[in-house]
Amino acid sequence: MHNAAYRECGLDWRYLKLAVPPELFEETVRALPRSGYRGVNVTIPHKQAALELATDASEVARAIGAANTLTFDDGAIHADNTDARGLIEALPRDPSGMSALVLGAGGAGRAAAWALREAGAEVAVWNRTAERAQRLAAELGVTATEAPVEVDIVVNATAVGLEPGGAIEDLPLGWIDPPTVAVELVYGADEKPFQAWAEASRCELVDGVEILVRQGALSFERWTAREAPLEAMRAAARAPAQA
Ligand code: NAP
Repeated sequence: MHNAAYRECGLDWRYLKLAVPPELFEETVRALPRSGYRGVNVTIPHKQAALELATDASEVARAIGAANTLTFDDGAIHADNTDARGLIEALPRDPSGMSALVLGAGGAGRAAAWALREAGAEVAVWNRTAERAQRLAAELGVTATEAPVEVDIVVNATAVGLEPGGAIEDLPLGWIDPPTVAVELVYGADEKPFQAWAEASRCELVDGVEILVRQGALSFERWTAREAPLEAMRAAARAPAQA
């Protein structure tokens, strides 16, 4: 997706995957600017460590407590979190004044709850382990719920679909009317029970690939100071994986 964007914009850049163990994360990141890197996306389990080693961080990264994007600038390391804005930009309608239920209180649930609250939605969070939802709710000023609630938007920010054995019955959806908008964060899994439920319920679906594209586009813009070629990124992200 990023390499397709560079090609589209005529940039002689490369996006590479680096598998880094946690104990080498900091020294690896600090060595990258001198090796010609402009920035990195970071994912599990490095998002918190990325925020901690940065010289400065955006308000959203600080509020969420995790960074997915680092940008190197003259010795400085800027931390940002594009998951939150990426989710809002992927929605088919303005969530202001709408009610939202976020399923999951891990890193993605935290970003989704913060983003929707900032965008003016009324946010409730449900999590399999209820104490985690309560902690998140208290920290972000949203509501924790243990019972299903009727809402306009439901976001699946759990790993159901990603972890083998997860099923739609693991989520508290059986008793609620389908929402207008359903957002699936899981992508790349063979089975996506929440997405299948949303399609069968005729919700407006935003899938995990669209969320991936939107957060990636924001990282691209941060690094290159150019508008992201969304269509090229989307086409590459949706193309069948090369063997
Ligand atoms: P995480 O921090 O490990 O959190 C996992 C969450 O899933 C926790 O809330 C956990 O609940 C819940 N969970 C796991 N198995 C479950 C089950 N069988 N039933 C109910 N809940 C279950 O992971 P994360 O970083 O938040 O990521 C969550 C999902 O979002 C992943 O699928 C990830 O790939 C996706 N994601 C997508 C994008 C994108 O760009 N599309 C970006 C970020 C994340 P407990 O607290 O009870 O364990």
